[in-house]
Amino acid sequence: MAEFHYKLDDDGIATITWDVPEKSMNVLSFDGLRELDAHVDTALGDDAVKGVIITSGKKDFAGGMDLNILARMGAEAGDNPAEGIFNGIMQLHGALRKIELAGMDRKTKKGGKPIVAALPGTAAGIGFELPLACHHIIVADNPKAKLGLPEILVGLFPGAGGATRVPRKIGLMAAAPILMEGRMQSPAKMKGLGLIDEVVPAENLIAAAKAWISSAKDADLVKPWDQKGYKYPGGAPYHPAGFQMFVGANVMIHGKTQGVYPAAKSLLAAIYEGAIVPFDTALKVEARWFTKVMTTPSTAGMIRSLFLNKQALEKGAVRPKEIDDQRVKKLGVLGAGMMGAGIAYVSALAGIEVVLIDATQEAAERGKAHSEGILDGGIKRKKVTPEKKEAVLANITPTTDYGALKGCDLIIEAVFEDPKVKAGVTKQAEEVIPADCIFASNTSTLPISSLASASTRPEQFIGIHFFSPVHKMNLVEIIKGHKTGPRAVAKALDFVRQIRKTPIVVNDERFFYANRCIIPYINEGVLMVKEGVRPALIEHAARLFGMPLGPLQLTDETSIDLGVKIAKATKAAMGNAYPNDAADEVMFKLFDEGRYGRKTNGGFYAYDDKGKRIGLWQGLAQHWPPKAEQPSLEDVKMRLAMVQTLEAVRAFETHVLEDIREGDVGAILGWGFAPWSGGPFSWLDILGAKQAVGICDHLEKTYGARFAAPDLLRELAAKGETFYGRFGPADQAAA
Ligand code: NAD
Repeated sequence: MAEFHYKLDDDGIATITWDVPEKSMNVLSFDGLRELDAHVDTALGDDAVKGVIITSGKKDFAGGMDLNILARMGAEAGDNPAEGIFNGIMQLHGALRKIELAGMDRKTKKGGKPIVAALPGTAAGIGFELPLACHHIIVADNPKAKLGLPEILVGLFPGAGGATRVPRKIGLMAAAPILMEGRMQSPAKMKGLGLIDEVVPAENLIAAAKAWISSAKDADLVKPWDQKGYKYPGGAPYHPAGFQMFVGANVMIHGKTQGVYPAAKSLLAAIYEGAIVPFDTALKVEARWFTKVMTTPSTAGMIRSLFLNKQALEKGAVRPKEIDDQRVKKLGVLGAGMMGAGIAYVSALAGIEVVLIDATQEAAERGKAHSEGILDGGIKRKKVTPEKKEAVLANITPTTDYGALKGCDLIIEAVFEDPKVKAGVTKQAEEVIPADCIFASNTSTLPISSLASASTRPEQFIGIHFFSPVHKMNLVEIIKGHKTGPRAVAKALDFVRQIRKTPIVVNDERFFYANRCIIPYINEGVLMVKEGVRPALIEHAARLFGMPLGPLQLTDETSIDLGVKIAKATKAAMGNAYPNDAADEVMFKLFDEGRYGRKTNGGFYAYDDKGKRIGLWQGLAQHWPPKAEQPSLEDVKMRLAMVQTLEAVRAFETHVLEDIREGDVGAILGWGFAPWSGGPFSWLDILGAKQAVGICDHLEKTYGARFAAPDLLRELAAKGETFYGRFGPADQAAA
């Protein structure tokens, strides 16, 4: 079925309407591109056509390129993927450049046909790059419309001319937030930036497009870069002002990405090199850098985890298929503290009726006030209307009365982390709730199977583990106890889908998955302080691996008293097998000195009176003097990276994780595992199992048994296999 439709009106204006069948948003496929190109040929070749409007049959213009296609492009390009990708991209450039030149004489710049983009709403990625190739862009005054080039956020860059046209149009400085941060903007903002030409009431969109076509002169069709004497706005690289800007941009990008994201570096290279050559050569340069990004394993890993598999998990890839729709209608939240209040908010926002229970009415009301606070913030930023606020708040009933739980189909308890308190509320709730209600615990450390023993229906008992702050953290870890049944899993997954978060489903083991991996990362960093490794080296090494926070900063953020509490409880549970005494010494010392981290304005870092972090605390050197001879950066980096990665592999080996896709998506969303790598399993595939085992052998010999390569990793190394090759979906084998 056609994705683009062509219609010629009596007034000589041809309209090409993008309307991909059975999709709510247009995305570009290669078939679509061929259709568009053919329609443009028809319009340009037909003397009856005076001008062309490119618009959409949907409420938005387009969401971009189909990333599934991009992900497969390399694999389908045969023996020489780079060549295949480059040719594919150049085909795209050719089609867009044809629109831009619109049949004009290349010398005289005369005789072209005006082509105008009329956008009813959002236009992202190639959905915005196509309009950028047109001669005029008109956007409907649609409050929901967002325009921009978000490719960088999934590890790509705008490679359909965006990286070349945007800075050539508005200069590198103004282009930076659009290209390098992927920031989507309102039509009004884009007009202010000079990237679009008109914002008109939605009902006038086509009329305005026709009016522009009838008034367009030859000169209106010639892009600045196709005019004689064109000057790069703000200066090209060899101009003094441009030179400063490009140098600054390079530093900024490196500071933000630590040099680990190939797309950011390549984007800047494409802009820089493109700026010193003619436009058509610049497009070729852009295509080459884009090809480089597409053929970098990191990009494949990022697209796979941050887009394909994240979406697959959100759509229920691991949901028990035989269970019918389990969407939640009425939710009971027990405990209106930090987590309970957050869970109530995200649920009420999704339109779910919530009963929010705490021990006192005051505490329950305070929990509801948390939602009010977030919504008020939204109103201030003009993201939320007062009506929306009222509607969300009306969904939350704060109370102390367990009787109000009648009719709930899901309960989530978030009371104190104490098995006795949790058992108490489980019993109290079960006296009231319907027989088929599912009961979930938000515990972060207590085994679900033992909490389930307080329930009369353990097959309906499950863990739904949120991360803090609930309204910002998108991962939800669903934990199956030994007796948890498939309906409870389906219920948890359908609930997570309702609140638009990303779920992973794991089995019940100490610390489940995310905390199990992040705790060793923190401990390794703290242990190194004790060993006399310079704290700055530890923190930098972590950042250079791509972790958003070094282990010491992360400890300050999550608080040292919490770390001490977890350490004590874990030691009590594990007895002699407990491995972290050395690291604990550091934590306990800071704890004893009242340095709990950010919340006490002192921890591994020092803070000023306003709570701003001002650098690593000098006192660390007194307690744990740095060794004269420091380890190599590479060793510190690999210790911090491997200690979490190996824990992920062990979690998979022991079936805590059932699916490596969940391991990778969960690691990036749950604790920020170096997103450039696509997650721990993806990282091991990029390294290659053989090299990974080599690193483990070295670390084990030098730093201890915790770095011993797991059997599974050794086996993959021996057989020359990868995690995705062996355990991933058939089409995701090659990263
Ligand atoms: P919190 O202390 O902020 O809130 C607990 C709330 O439970 C309090 O308001 C308390 O009054 C209420 N409560 C206690 N006993 C009750 C009872 N019998 N009936 C009704 N209400 C009762 O704690 P929190 O940080 O929100 O943590 C709650 C749970 O979530 C814990 O199990 C914790 O391990 C887990 N968790 C916490 C985090 C985190 O970052 N804080 C993250 C994930 C999971």
